[in-house]
Amino acid sequence: MLCYKRVLLKLSGEALVGKQEFGIDPQVLQDIALEIREVYELGVQTAIVIGGGNIFRGTAAASYGVDRVTADYMGMLATVMNGLALQGALEKEGVLTRLQTAIEMHQVAEPYIRRRAIRHLEKGRVVIFAGGNGNPFFTTDTTASLRAVEIGAEVILKATKVDGVFSADPMLDKEAVMLPNLKYLDVLQRGLTVMDSTAITLCMDNKLPIIVFNLTVKGNIKRVLSGEKIGTIVQGG
Ligand code: UDP
Repeated sequence: MLCYKRVLLKLSGEALVGKQEFGIDPQVLQDIALEIREVYELGVQTAIVIGGGNIFRGTAAASYGVDRVTADYMGMLATVMNGLALQGALEKEGVLTRLQTAIEMHQVAEPYIRRRAIRHLEKGRVVIFAGGNGNPFFTTDTTASLRAVEIGAEVILKATKVDGVFSADPMLDKEAVMLPNLKYLDVLQRGLTVMDSTAITLCMDNKLPIIVFNLTVKGNIKRVLSGEKIGTIVQGG
């Protein structure tokens, strides 16, 4: 049984990088496309916000000798490259998609139009949102919260490389334990790295749950959608 009719999947740029240091690993991209196809085949309306950290992050501004705002625009453009790659990979697997960007570039993608995005979802197309929210000083996590609220998604599925939210970084600290249930305020007060604080606050204000799960385990998206308790759920005041 499916628990959700409409979801927003947040994919960070790093999800696409695989074992490389930079860019997109074609095998990883195909694996992700196959996972998304499973959701598509279940008939769950799926929107995706794609990040850009595998190509460029605004916080790297200083090392490139550009100001922060310029660097953030570069980061937003990086998400468009990832969006195009994801669209290509999904269509190769037979998934109908539309790519919308918050920064207009008509030759490349549709502009972000909320009602149009909802219409695509209703018609069963996977909608990819690229270009962040079009503004510097934001992240694609914030964009995920914003778009999820705008399109009436019931949950944000935040894909990561680990099983959920941990008390400390599990890659660095062997004592770290996974926290299956969290409240928004726990995340904010304990400074847990789920999403940035702006994104969490937006979810809290709109009572939008976030499920953090491991995308590298095959079949996990399907498990989440069937209500299996995997990963970490953030909800409740
Ligand atoms: N960015 C931005 N505004 C947005 C979304 C993204 O300025 O609304 C820029 C920001 O510089 C960020 C970069 O785009 O560092 C890439 O996005 P993000 O770091 O969120 O990607 P992810 O960590 O998900 O790969």
